[in-house]
Amino acid sequence: MRHLLLALQFALLPGFVLAAETHDHGHHHAQHGSLGAHEHGAAELDVALDSSTLEIELRSPAMNLVGFEHAPSSEADNRKIADARKQLEQPDTLFRLSAAAGCALAETQLQSPLFEEDAPGHEHEEGHDQDHSEIHARYRFDCATPQALTGIDLQGLFKAFPGTEEIQAQLIGPNGQRGAQLSVGQPRAEL
Ligand SMILES: [Zn+2]
Repeated sequence: MRHLLLALQFALLPGFVLAAETHDHGHHHAQHGSLGAHEHGAAELDVALDSSTLEIELRSPAMNLVGFEHAPSSEADNRKIADARKQLEQPDTLFRLSAAAGCALAETQLQSPLFEEDAPGHEHEEGHDQDHSEIHARYRFDCATPQALTGIDLQGLFKAFPGTEEIQAQLIGPNGQRGAQLSVGQPRAEL
C-alpha cells in the first residue's frame, strides 16, 4: 500500500515530496502523514482562497464515496465508480459557496487508482495490504468577488456521499488559517 500512496503523494505534491525525499533519507514520512492510514468514514478537505483563486481539495477513502476500495470486478462496481465520478465532477452541488462571491469552476482534477483503466499487473497480490484506495479531488475556482466568500457548506457532499461521516477541514483565507471538524450536523465552515 505504501507504494501506491507514495505514488499518489508524488502526483499531488511534487515539490513537497521532492524536498522531503532529498532531506529526510531513511525517515518514513508516509506512515505519519494523512495518507499513511486512512479511516473509513473520515475525509480531509483543504480550502484556500488566494486573491480571486479558490482551491478546494478533498482527500477521501474510496469507501466513503463508492462503498468499496477494491479494483472494480463487476458491472455494478464500474457503475458505482462512474456515478461517484460524475458527482465529483459537479462540485457546485457538493460544496456550496457564498453566491455573492461569484466563484466559477475553472479546473477539476480527480485521482484514484479506481479511476484508472484496467491494466495488466494491476491484480491484487495475496498477502499485501492493497485493499485501501483513496479518491482525491482538486478544484480551482475563479471568484469575481472573493471578499464576499465567507464560507463553504458541505451539506450537498454529506447528502451525495452518506458514507462520509466527518471531514477534517483546513481553511486558509484573508482571516488566516483555521481548522474545522465538519459533519452532516455541522456542514459549514467559515473562511
Ligand atoms: Zn480503506
